[in-house]
Amino acid sequence: KYYNMVEDMKGKIRVYCRVRPMSSSELERGNHSAVKSPDEYSIIIESQRGPKEFQFDQVFMPEVSQDKIFEDANNLVQSAVDGFNVCIFAYGQTGSGKTYTIIGDREQKYPGIAPRAFERIFDLLQENKSKFSYKCSCYMLELYNDKLIDLFTKPSSQSEDKMEIKKDQKGMVFVQGAEIKNAKNAQQLAALFEEGSKNRHTASTKMNMESSRSHLVISIVIETTNRTTGAVLKGKLSLVDLAGSERASKTGASAEQLKEAMSINKSLSALGDVISALSSEQQFIPYRNNKLTMLMQDSLGGNAKTLMFVNISPADYNSDESAVSLTYASRVK
Ligand code: ADP
Ligand code: MG
Repeated sequence: KYYNMVEDMKGKIRVYCRVRPMSSSELERGNHSAVKSPDEYSIIIESQRGPKEFQFDQVFMPEVSQDKIFEDANNLVQSAVDGFNVCIFAYGQTGSGKTYTIIGDREQKYPGIAPRAFERIFDLLQENKSKFSYKCSCYMLELYNDKLIDLFTKPSSQSEDKMEIKKDQKGMVFVQGAEIKNAKNAQQLAALFEEGSKNRHTASTKMNMESSRSHLVISIVIETTNRTTGAVLKGKLSLVDLAGSERASKTGASAEQLKEAMSINKSLSALGDVISALSSEQQFIPYRNNKLTMLMQDSLGGNAKTLMFVNISPADYNSDESAVSLTYASRVK
């Protein structure tokens, strides 16, 4: 069953919808849930324009745990170790649960996909170390206002001009000028992630920017060599916490905020265009329209396996924005 599922995913994009629980501020405000799920593939949202139904590969309602979410992601981690390019990303408005899904809660009491994947990668590599030797490396980037920020370089010595998105001979994307760091075990990988997160925090404070206004990309490259045949497999797991998809309010936004919003909107549209071109099996896939899609080019389409989460709030207060997110996500299908 497992192999069928993974085989089935090659070149395809799965879209999962995840609804977070009502937040305390939503409850205090007296908001009600505007969503229901008649079965595990459908969601109905009640907004000003009436009820609307959407279908996804899975719908996860608020009670679904991080463990359950990882059960699915787990197979994709295996694929990355097996030499595939895998991309898992989270889309949705700010506060909808993207970071919770990809990274976990702030205290890491409920770890998300990334920390679990770090462990799982090395569990798998260790299990097979009599047959395969391995190398694991990682790069971590932020994309803000169409600018790349290398999170393994201290914000003070950052130089964007030196960074360039390139492809190696086998078509794997790498960023020239960005640090790639090796990890020997899960602890080292987790420490690298910590380091990157700290730099991200410092960079955003310096630029007076909210982290929810930038895209975060963590890519883990896994290379295994068969000890008998010498055959090399190289896969990559990319985890992407996208910038908030909310539309800028026309009133009260500063020039800087509008610029941010336009840049986010452009990159998310470019991503939507690439994904819908792939789903409708078009000849030309417009990867080069944006740095986000250029970065993800080797992990969308081809032999890559892609899982997209569309995260939404259940509250009636957010239902218009949620409906916009669900519409975006279903365009992908
Ligand atoms: P985003 O990254 O989309 O802006 P967050 O992941 O930061 O949103 O989520 C907003 C808040 O809701 C956080 O406090 C987070 O811990 C909480 N949250 C999100 N999803 C869930 C969930 N499935 N279960 C419990 N709490 C959640
Ligand atoms: Mg977030």
